[in-house]
Amino acid sequence: MKGLGEGLTKKDIKDLLEENRDHECGGIGRDKICIRIESIADLPSKYGQFHVVAFYNNRDDKENAALVHGNVINQEDVTVRLHSECLTGDVFGSLRCDCHDQLVTALRTIGKMKIGMLIYLRQEGRGIGFINKIKAYALQEEGLDTGEANIALGFHDDEREYSVAAHIIQSLKIKSVRLMTNNPQKIAELKQYGVNVVERIPLIIQPNKYNRFYLETKEKKFGHFLEGVADRFQDQMDAPLFKKMKGQGARGKGDVHDP
Ligand SMILES: [Zn+2]
Ligand SMILES: [Zn+2]
Repeated sequence: MKGLGEGLTKKDIKDLLEENRDHECGGIGRDKICIRIESIADLPSKYGQFHVVAFYNNRDDKENAALVHGNVINQEDVTVRLHSECLTGDVFGSLRCDCHDQLVTALRTIGKMKIGMLIYLRQEGRGIGFINKIKAYALQEEGLDTGEANIALGFHDDEREYSVAAHIIQSLKIKSVRLMTNNPQKIAELKQYGVNVVERIPLIIQPNKYNRFYLETKEKKFGHFLEGVADRFQDQMDAPLFKKMKGQGARGKGDVHDP
């Protein structure tokens, strides 16, 4: 397809598929996850020209994806965004979180760069799955914050993990990455798994009235780099439609919100 002149070449794709056919390594992370590239195809999108790469993994039936723009193989300083699946946000445009805007902004930004990649991780609802995410939303309507709701359901406040992403970066032979994130945990975890993260690129999106409280929670509880969420957006989190929001919204930036 035209327009992919500087993307992966036919030979690159053939070589990657051949190398991956029998790939099996010791695995990465707590679950020793090993993934392999199963297929690669052109994916022209409204956000730019991409190749879509489909991955098999040895742990569950989750089929992860990477959207690759330009030729990232063996490259340094590749801009990478890790996006965790969010059905309500990505597809339905939910305002309880900013996932849709983050996804679109990341793709649009990467699509204009020389090279970059978005990794789409199948860990819905911060890793607790779709049904539990909706249960957590219902609890938030009762007054819990996003972390408390997950804990009430028997999970950690954030169950996401990034060993799949680390392996995908290695599978595509990327030498170093500039990670597009506001979330320090992502950087720490990728580094722990051997990825060379050389820079952080903030991803800033305006909050809306539904997710402001949730973003404030995230900044306080999860240490995201937001510097006051009134003007910043944080990293792919779900917002409570929180009845106490009005009173809390009246407080100034930087106040302690937990009683
Ligand atoms: Zn492997
Ligand atoms: Zn979301």
